[in-house]
Amino acid sequence: MTNKREGYAGIDIFRIAAAIMIIAIHTSPLVSFSHEADFVLTRIIARVAVPFFFMCTGYFLIPGCTESRENRKRVFVKFLSKTGFLYGAAILIYIPVNIYSGYFKEKPIIINITKDIVFDGTFYHLWYIPASIIGFMIVYTLTTRLSLKKVFTLSFILYLIGLFGDSYYGISEKFDAANSFYGTLFSYFDYTRNGLFFAPVFIVLGAIIAKSKREYSLRKNLVGFALAFSALIAEALILHHYSLQRHDSMYIMLIPAMLFLFRILLIIKGESQKILRDISMLVYILHPLCIIFVRGFAKVLKLEVYLIGNSLIHFIAVTVATIVISVVLIYIKKQLDTYKRQSQPERCRAWAEIDMDRLKHNVNQLKLLLPHDCQLMAVVKSNAYGHGDIEISKSLNKAGVYAFAVATLSEGIELRNNKIKGEILILGYTHPDEAPLLVRYDLTQTVVDYEYAEILDSTGLKIKVHIKIDTGMHRLGETNDALTNLDRTYNCKNLIVGGTYTHLSSADSVEPSNIIFTKEQIKKFYSTLNYLKSHNRNPSKIHIQSSYGILNYPELDCDYARVGIALYGVLSKENEKTKIRAALEPVLSLKARIVLTKEIQEGESVGYGRSFIAVKRTKIAVLCIGYADGIPRSLSCGKGYVLIKGKKAPIIGNICMDQLTVDISDIPDVQQGDIATLIGDDGNEAITAEQVASLAGTITNELLSRLGNRIERVYKKVV
Ligand SMILES: *Cc1c(COP(=O)(O)O)cnc(C)c1O
Repeated sequence: MTNKREGYAGIDIFRIAAAIMIIAIHTSPLVSFSHEADFVLTRIIARVAVPFFFMCTGYFLIPGCTESRENRKRVFVKFLSKTGFLYGAAILIYIPVNIYSGYFKEKPIIINITKDIVFDGTFYHLWYIPASIIGFMIVYTLTTRLSLKKVFTLSFILYLIGLFGDSYYGISEKFDAANSFYGTLFSYFDYTRNGLFFAPVFIVLGAIIAKSKREYSLRKNLVGFALAFSALIAEALILHHYSLQRHDSMYIMLIPAMLFLFRILLIIKGESQKILRDISMLVYILHPLCIIFVRGFAKVLKLEVYLIGNSLIHFIAVTVATIVISVVLIYIKKQLDTYKRQSQPERCRAWAEIDMDRLKHNVNQLKLLLPHDCQLMAVVKSNAYGHGDIEISKSLNKAGVYAFAVATLSEGIELRNNKIKGEILILGYTHPDEAPLLVRYDLTQTVVDYEYAEILDSTGLKIKVHIKIDTGMHRLGETNDALTNLDRTYNCKNLIVGGTYTHLSSADSVEPSNIIFTKEQIKKFYSTLNYLKSHNRNPSKIHIQSSYGILNYPELDCDYARVGIALYGVLSKENEKTKIRAALEPVLSLKARIVLTKEIQEGESVGYGRSFIAVKRTKIAVLCIGYADGIPRSLSCGKGYVLIKGKKAPIIGNICMDQLTVDISDIPDVQQGDIATLIGDDGNEAITAEQVASLAGTITNELLSRLGNRIERVYKKVV
């Protein structure tokens, strides 16, 4: 769909206002004080609410419909199934009230119910849902054949017909033909403000606004709205004065007023809030129930004089009750979803359990190591080393971490799309043509050398950057002694320099020669900084250390430390010596399910290339995890093992793309569906990521970052 649901703060906030207006329509807040004032509030002003919801449907769904056929069908089916489900649920909720009020006693029952389900709703407010379904189907069908303009014209004609059965009915009543026409219509439904006559025009209007893709001027639209809305009030008051209204939902001026209002709401940009959409929907469905509750409550507590007698208090009580109940329901659903996700490994094939409490523990441990002013910059590149970058970053935001590093532009965008807050530094190269995305998503780009700085600068965009200096790693960064180039880099007027950094190439080693090299790198970095400062260049925030930098050179005075692997509670290699031992806990465990077990005889082989040949009767188990999931193929043929029921089971034969085989001869009672641990604890045994990496001849960084996306991530946290 062309319409991403981002940045519709105005629309989302107005959904709540519109839902409250609908409560007002059904509770008449001002009626205790003035009938006229109440009429203006609930029969005129609040009448923008329902058209607004129709326009949202049109704005977000119809443009998608006019694209490819496949897309259209998907949008159609999704809308119908979602709205149909909602309608079914709403009908069920109100059945007890229907029974109580004698709804099912009115004859002819089948005809009544059919009429109500299709047009009028089985409870007084429910007409809106079938109206949106019918309106959507009409507009959807017409837009497949006709231009939006023509569809608007047709919908407008329908609206006019509806109008003369609604607030202009007093006029049509005077003509016999019209009278008998509307008489026929009203034998099918009670009102013309339904899916046939009322909804389509607003749905198309929403679609037209979405298609036009214009930037609207706030002033013009405010003026337009003020004029149209005043005219709307005048129109309604005149019709009311001459008692022409049979019903009071449809006015001519409602159409221009809604056009301007919707545009104004679109101008108000900002984060979209799904919770506001959910609340408004629940408020709409549940408020009549809350009206009944508030009345019952008032009777029980003998507070009728206030809670019912005073219309304003009544309205406020109903509104508060409805919103509270809606928020509670949303909270319960969220908890249930979390619970469902946590218990899902029951069905998973292969999964990684990610322990968020351990992540938080590691953050706290690392913060203790860092100098007071040094902030943790969480390195979440490559899907947070296989841990799931979105969930990890969200959790880190909650733990007070507001600086992130990723390797690529798309990783940065993904974080922003998931509302991750704070600075996001791209450590790698981004093509200069993509520079607008850096700005749009508020990402900070690493300046990889002087030439790159000039190209970024020449885009004319104000780009946030950290400048990287190469002090001996000889990967990214402008060479530390290319002082003229560095000087020019800081002179680029379009680059907003937020930091300067370097990367150490052997911070992990405690070998004397490597320590000398590292200290040399650090010295070069600081002397370059001094040169820059003496030439009035501002390096801004500085950073040097990654995980091992902190563990071996904790004393460095920096503004950030870019921590990756240590955050996830593991070191790169087994039994590595570091100057400081931090009490880190591994965040990830890796599990896979046993597909089946079988016995093979002496001389029989297992897997591709027959690399395993049984020397005796052997019991084997097949696991559903393979090298495509990130299990190094080098663990084949007995190099690696897994844990089953707290015991070691060696990997036999060659690891396949999606499966591998283990020897379980020494483990009794292994069954289909049992769980094997590839990384983590199992009973009294444990197998660490460091051990697996070492057996595979690699480092944990590679092992973890290669865990594939077929592995489900199951997040464990204290709810
Ligand atoms: C990946 C990376 C880090 C993080 O390294 P760890 O050893 O995992 O802490 C830090 N800085 C740069 C430039 C990196 O590329």
